[in-house]
Amino acid sequence: MEKVLTVCEACGTPNQVEPERKGDALCGSCKAPLKFYGDVLEGSDATFQKEVLQSKRPVLVDFWAPWCMPCKMLTPILHEVAKEADGRVKVVKINTDDNGGVPSQFGIMSIPTLILFKDGEVVERLVGAVPKKKILEMLG
Ligand SMILES: [Zn+2]
Repeated sequence: MEKVLTVCEACGTPNQVEPERKGDALCGSCKAPLKFYGDVLEGSDATFQKEVLQSKRPVLVDFWAPWCMPCKMLTPILHEVAKEADGRVKVVKINTDDNGGVPSQFGIMSIPTLILFKDGEVVERLVGAVPKKKILEMLG
């Protein structure tokens, strides 16, 4: 089986992991457990600092709300992206109806908005129901 590239969330070191060892792989550099999620994570104002800003793995954040139609169109695409980029990029969604702090901190004017964070900094943002290809291009 081909090894998968994963970036340690604790120290940012890229690691090569055999797929069958995904469950118990440790970072070769700092020995922290290498995390795999396989899907979109639910984020909030309360977890944002830890889950997004402190992650040494790039994080793609989806700002969405349940009433927003373009957000609904984007949802299945983000599930695919989360699966395909698992280990390299973490995908987190934040419901802007339930969480006001983070969206205002980052000036979210319309949803859906996707923001890519690296080392706690905004790298790039995409607004609207963008195609998967464009998202993958942003992730690099
Ligand atoms: Zn590490």
